[in-house]
Amino acid sequence: MVGTINTPDEIALLREGGKRLAHAVAETAKKVAVGVKTHELNDYFEQLVRAGGDEPAFLNYQPRGAKRPFPASICISVNEEVVHGIPTENTRVIKDGDIVKLDGGVRHRGLITDHAVSVIAGNAQPEDEALVRGTRQALMAGIQAARGGNRTGDISAAVEAVGVELGFGIVFELGGHGVGHHVHEEPYIPNVGDAGTGDLLVPGMVLAIEPMFTLGTPKVRVKFDGYTYVTKDGTRAAHWEHTVLITDKAPEILTAL
Ligand code: MG
Repeated sequence: MVGTINTPDEIALLREGGKRLAHAVAETAKKVAVGVKTHELNDYFEQLVRAGGDEPAFLNYQPRGAKRPFPASICISVNEEVVHGIPTENTRVIKDGDIVKLDGGVRHRGLITDHAVSVIAGNAQPEDEALVRGTRQALMAGIQAARGGNRTGDISAAVEAVGVELGFGIVFELGGHGVGHHVHEEPYIPNVGDAGTGDLLVPGMVLAIEPMFTLGTPKVRVKFDGYTYVTKDGTRAAHWEHTVLITDKAPEILTAL
């Protein structure tokens, strides 16, 4: 078996941490507005997390293969930036109609949850609204497939089906993952794949499911900063993510409000 089975005590901590993270991300999302600088959103998120006695899990986290630790408390990615934007370095001033992706992690008493939302500042273009809504729909479809006895490929296939149906680019080079004791754990959950394939889902596993869709091709590249993924064709992207607990029945969303 690939992945960690959490104890009831660990699950209780993940549940509390997830709730706190959902709150911090939602409050930060409320601050997204035209003229706001992304580093201001980073500072606000960090302050909310620390006020609860927790730590921003992504600050100083060094993924395998990265040349340096992540230098911000939350990933903020705007428009053609897909994920892992650094608000404290490549600060952006939010403009009317921008798609702003907030992806945060919280370490609550040692245990980590991961959650992302996409919001549009000011007046949204209809295609951007459809992209944001469709990506969220794919997340919910993936969550529905995340049940004990299923496999990671069932989640992948459910996410992919929504992307194909709606005609969006499905970012296949990045995906979901186990979470809880580390920011990234096994199993890896691709955003495209075949039902019935991949790693077995077992009750007690905690997974971050995170579809990313684009308005163009699905290809992405990493920017000079070593972290920010952007679409190769420069089209806009959306990203949604929940941390879920696998059970015998429908999964429990740990990062719901
Ligand atoms: Mg994640």
